[in-house]
Amino acid sequence: MIDFAVIGSGISGATISNKLVKKYSIKVFEKAKGVGGRSSFKRFKGNIGFDHGLQYLSPRSKEFKSFTNKLIRKRVIKHWKGNHEFLNERVKRDKKHIKLIGVRGNNDISKHLLKSINCKFQSELSEIQRKKDCWFLKFKNNTSAYAKNLIITAPFPQVKKLASKFVRTKLFTNKVKMNSSLTVLLMTNKTDSNVSSFFTNDDILGWVSNENSKKRFRYNKDLWVLQSTYEYGKKHTDNYRNKKKFHTRILINKFKKLTKLKIKKVYFSHIHGWKYSSNSKPLKTKSYWDKRLGLGICADWFGGPRLENGWLSANNLYKKLISTI
Ligand SMILES: Cc1cc2nc3c(=O)[nH]c(=O)nc-3n(C[C@H](O)[C@H](O)[C@H](O)COP(=O)(O)OP(=O)(O)OC[C@H]3O[C@@H](n4cnc5c(N)ncnc54)[C@H](O)[C@@H]3O)c2cc1C
Repeated sequence: MIDFAVIGSGISGATISNKLVKKYSIKVFEKAKGVGGRSSFKRFKGNIGFDHGLQYLSPRSKEFKSFTNKLIRKRVIKHWKGNHEFLNERVKRDKKHIKLIGVRGNNDISKHLLKSINCKFQSELSEIQRKKDCWFLKFKNNTSAYAKNLIITAPFPQVKKLASKFVRTKLFTNKVKMNSSLTVLLMTNKTDSNVSSFFTNDDILGWVSNENSKKRFRYNKDLWVLQSTYEYGKKHTDNYRNKKKFHTRILINKFKKLTKLKIKKVYFSHIHGWKYSSNSKPLKTKSYWDKRLGLGICADWFGGPRLENGWLSANNLYKKLISTI
């Protein structure tokens, strides 16, 4: 039986697994087809692709800066200056922070941390039970597993659904509001725009990112990531699948209108709904650990809406865990 089952291969799951694997046997279970969670890179034919969720890192804490510096030296991530255009003066954000991106895609950090770890993809955990002092895990693909300890790194509402009957603190009485958003990945004719991202004050289109500005590959077409506002996401994420073309068209039309770029041809588009895109208010605790049951929870939502918060939460859980186990 494995020592730890870790649910999720985003930054939180990858970080805690990378630390634990030095002492324990680990298996990561991930519901998606690949690594990265909300920092995934959607790869298409050849080497091209789009940062699907997270666009860049902007380290703030000393610990995370030191971690990212090591990854820069290992060529896992790189600096990205970018040229950011604010389509409305009221949304000047984040200009002063350093920006870092994955060398091949923004899931490079998770990939790097998980490279020697056994990951099971397309394995969505649907139920957990306690059986004879260990965890019995049931997955939607009709498989199951036993583990001595269990660590869950999913968004708050998903962890609550899976684990609330086993959590013995008031963790789930917290109100963690998670925003939703829609993302359109778009391939168009070359516009020769030198803008890396557009930030807007619109009520439908929140921001746009220019994938080619990340200079990971050369491509003769423009690749854009259009991100809806949370207000638009709140109204439409639950049932966007029934109206994919409609929402794609709305976001593309907004993009054309607000940026005034000469988009003559759309070669490809793909829409995705992030039901749990980000959260706002940080909690007082940074992670959850119950030594008696061997149940741990770490995720970005303990600390805030950025990747760094997931990394900090995983480190916090590790410290709690090794001081008690
Ligand atoms: C559109 C968008 C843009 C963003 N931009 C930025 C940015 O520019 N900078 C920044 O710092 N942050 C950004 N973020 C936030 C950042 O992506 C997250 O803070 C970070 O990726 C969270 O990592 P995590 O590991 O805590 O959670 P996740 O990445 O969500 O990882 C959780 C993993 O658990 C898996 N999972 C969930 N339930 C189950 C289950 N039942 N069974 C198995 N697996 C399960 C999920 O598939 C996922 O892979 C953005 C997020 C989005 C959505």
